[in-house]
Amino acid sequence: MSLLEVDGLGVSYGRRSGRVLSGVSLSVRPGEVVGVVGETGSGKTTLVRAVVGLVPADEGRVTFDGTEVTALRGRRLRAFRRTGGMQLVFQDSLRSLDPDLTVAAIVAEGLTVAGGLTRSEQAERVDEALIRVGLDPALGTRRPGQVSGGQRQRVALARAIAVRPKVLLCDEPASALDASSRNQVLLLLDRLRRELGVAIVMISHDLTSLAGLVDRVAVLFGGRLVEQGPVGEVFGDPAHPYTALLVASAPSIGARPLGRSAASLRPARDRESWPHGGGCRYAPLCPFATADCAVEPPREERADGRTVACHHAETWSDLVGQTRGALT
Ligand code: SF4
Repeated sequence: MSLLEVDGLGVSYGRRSGRVLSGVSLSVRPGEVVGVVGETGSGKTTLVRAVVGLVPADEGRVTFDGTEVTALRGRRLRAFRRTGGMQLVFQDSLRSLDPDLTVAAIVAEGLTVAGGLTRSEQAERVDEALIRVGLDPALGTRRPGQVSGGQRQRVALARAIAVRPKVLLCDEPASALDASSRNQVLLLLDRLRRELGVAIVMISHDLTSLAGLVDRVAVLFGGRLVEQGPVGEVFGDPAHPYTALLVASAPSIGARPLGRSAASLRPARDRESWPHGGGCRYAPLCPFATADCAVEPPREERADGRTVACHHAETWSDLVGQTRGALT
């Protein structure tokens, strides 16, 4: 059974910016780690913000633990947020943490908002959260500017887990860190998932970060999900040309090499004038596009836990598979 269900979510930021997300559907089970991958501007951050109600959705539904979040407004939405069931962890901890507060006060923020704890109970929960993320509670007296970038991101995670959420929504939580701190944060997320049973939605442009951590992955392009499924299958045998291009650009994830067939995935460069009548958003770049693709939006086809939105998924993936088969 799903803990978090996103059903046909659409968001637009006014008429001039157009649609940022369209028809996004995603489900997260308790304790599951789901990755959402896509390039800058694909709508990843808008997706997590809309899920927690920070950005209003203009179509579709988000249901968390039986509550329809998208139907909540005003006081009811604020009351829902106070429960802390879903916690957002941002990419830039320096900007997301109040520089004037101590680390202990930052970690206590959600607990103070939720209320119901005595001072000593709250202090205990703060120490517990700091230890859980691998920080010495003695750091509680420092301010965000007095700890390292890796420690700051752990403080952000401690703040999120202090309220004992059921889902952590992590927006590129390690991308601003150096390689060593990044790996430590990814290992920490994996440990939190195992020890606390918390579900995680991990947003990233980096397939390598996702490959070792997530159970399932969803690929976002132009505000639409183009493919989703178990991470080993999606990265090992992509069913959408855009996923295949991402995989071909990230050899470190250990997927079977695409060899010469990677060249056939290169974005088309001669399509600036390609007609776009609401068809597949990848059509202007897709080397496998036909005239139909430009006018008819592909429906999401589901089979064996995989979903793909492409008119020609079988045809093009056979082509890539044959070339790859000849090479491996
Ligand atoms: S629907 Fe057409 S344009 Fe879109 S990804 Fe598939 S083949 Fe390419």
